Amino acid sequence: MTFGKGKIWFDGKFVNWEDCKIHAMSHVVHYGSGVFEGIRCYKNKKGSAIFRLTEHIRRLYESAKIYRIDIPYSQKEFCQFCIDTVRENKIDECYIRPIVFRGYGELGVDPSRCPINCIIAVWAWGKYLGSDALEKGVSVCISSWRRAAPNTFPSLAKACGNYINSQLIKLEAKRNGYDEGIALDTYGFVSEGSGENIFMVRNGVIYTPPSYSSILPGITRHAIFQISRDLNLRIEKHTIPREALYIADELFFSGTAAEITPVTRVDEIVVGEGKRGPITKSIQDYFFKVVNGEMEDKFNWLTYI
Ligand code: PMP
Repeated sequence: MTFGKGKIWFDGKFVNWEDCKIHAMSHVVHYGSGVFEGIRCYKNKKGSAIFRLTEHIRRLYESAKIYRIDIPYSQKEFCQFCIDTVRENKIDECYIRPIVFRGYGELGVDPSRCPINCIIAVWAWGKYLGSDALEKGVSVCISSWRRAAPNTFPSLAKACGNYINSQLIKLEAKRNGYDEGIALDTYGFVSEGSGENIFMVRNGVIYTPPSYSSILPGITRHAIFQISRDLNLRIEKHTIPREALYIADELFFSGTAAEITPVTRVDEIVVGEGKRGPITKSIQDYFFKVVNGEMEDKFNWLTYI
């Protein structure tokens, strides 16, 4: 199923992709008042497996809670709707996009009289940062745009409005010839990419910024903690100064779309040996073996549909 085809789950019913419409005066269109998720479903030898579905739906509900959005279903029901949408579209490998938003009602900033609408769409989405990025790595810049300061836009919520900041980071990076941009937090420490968490390896230890560095706490990031511990690798949450990225041995991104992507250049400075490093590769191998059904799923990441 390519983007633009198939059925979309819309408030409890399946509608054709082209009929899934909302009013232009919906609250979310004007004020970014929605929360969403990005989830991958992998086809492997045993069937189609959704990666960490319950964790993604939990984060969706937590994002909604922060913004006082009441989702009219249980988390368990919502997980089932995601599975139903994949099945309905007869697609065995896809990206799943649930979104819950404030719809058409009134247009004041106060959203309390607007209805809550829920949508789940699925489509095939290849390698987010380019076809050979997983092996060759990507070239990034430090963005001139910062992540939002604490107590401004909550970074723990995956809210639609947050991505207007991500767009500034991504547009600037692409315009200047980079694959992606990394933003610093308001204190000048490394935060994250426009849609990925960042990890740094130095002297055999893996570091990643803590949640108070204005990051989205990634589900893939959490999986990397599980993988690293299982591989007996030391991993720590630590504030990271910008220049530490330049002198790192290895860098990599994590994210649902980006999966685990090596970063080989930062601001035109070659990181380590300028290619995917051995620790990055061992974490990547572990991740892909599990999602491809070639290794035991000991952390119960996969929900077969
Ligand atoms: N940070 C941001 C800003 C993101 O958009 C994403 C993608 N959801 C991530 C980090 C990575 O999160 P996850 O591993 O849950 O996809």
